[in-house]
Amino acid sequence: MSTTCELCRRVIPTERLDDPQATQQHHLRPEERATSPTVTLCRPCHDQIHATFTNEELRESYDSLDALRDADRLSDYLSWIRGTDKLEIAVETSEHVRRHR
Ligand SMILES: [Zn+2]
Ligand SMILES: [Zn+2]
Repeated sequence: MSTTCELCRRVIPTERLDDPQATQQHHLRPEERATSPTVTLCRPCHDQIHATFTNEELRESYDSLDALRDADRLSDYLSWIRGTDKLEIAVETSEHVRRHR
């Protein structure tokens, strides 16, 4: 059974699911892990989200898939990743996320 990333909507083929990191659960409200809904994402999307937004931003403005899909700061990334089959990318944490760590 293949899995679809709920953000970029790429299908992750079964043979790549042997890698336990190929898909990951993202908590839409990162600081409320116990009660937060989760979505299944490919690793690049998950890395990219946390490199782009602070937990505070995720909680306040991007706690739904629709908000993430429409986010200006993800649009370049999303159009790029949809054209690749990469399941691993080098992510550069944005300056403003680093400041909040
Ligand atoms: Zn994805
Ligand atoms: Zn996450």
